[in-house]
Amino acid sequence: MNEGKIVIFSAPSGSGKSTIVNYLLTRNLGLEFSISATSRAPRGQEQNGVEYYFLSPDEFRNRIAKGDFIEHEEVYEGCFYGTLRSEIDRIWAKGHTIVFDVDVKGGVNLKKIFGEKALTLFIQPPSIDELRRRLVSRGTDSPEKIEQRLAKAGQELAYAPEFDQIIVNDDLAAAQAKAESLISSFIGK
Ligand code: ADP
Ligand code: 5GP
Repeated sequence: MNEGKIVIFSAPSGSGKSTIVNYLLTRNLGLEFSISATSRAPRGQEQNGVEYYFLSPDEFRNRIAKGDFIEHEEVYEGCFYGTLRSEIDRIWAKGHTIVFDVDVKGGVNLKKIFGEKALTLFIQPPSIDELRRRLVSRGTDSPEKIEQRLAKAGQELAYAPEFDQIIVNDDLAAAQAKAESLISSFIGK
């Protein structure tokens, strides 16, 4: 396997990570998204094999036992997420740089595995109040789920210093431009 580079995004839910990643994927940087597996149910218009590989809890456990994951976490109670080794092979085989959207623990673990091949970016919301507003206006989670995500955000923010770069997502266009410039220079190295 011809190994390439990887870019890892982590952030509290609602920080704007997906918005920024989706923008970057349109920018001809040679990036390709690593599709994670999850045991949670699809949300809104999500499709199997596009946003995630949706597995039942039993299927997820079986694939852990087979050693199919390079990393996996129970990000929310009862909801498992993980990166399949096959995803990394699939994307590097095409000569692309892999983009990961993983929780903070997954981000730190992947950095330990990939070292200098990896750039880790932490997307920080301007405040917890603004995070709440974004989760409410996104309209994809129940009030209960939103509270669960906000409760976790405080612990997640404590991981920010472990990342290579912190991008505060206040003005979206500025955050997107900063991410693009950091990734371009990392890939060019
Ligand atoms: P995440 O992937 O981190 O959970 P999303 O990308 O889904 O977050 O963003 C959460 C919500 O906030 C979405 O409705 C998105 O359109 C909005 N959003 C993202 N960035 C900004 C920003 N800089 N200012 C205001 N709203 C934003
Ligand atoms: P959501 O349910 O909003 O799609 O994602 C919830 C959280 O799971 C996000 O923080 C996301 O980054 C994280 N996540 C998604 N895929 C993976 C993965 O493969 N591994 C880890 N560790 N976290 C993941």
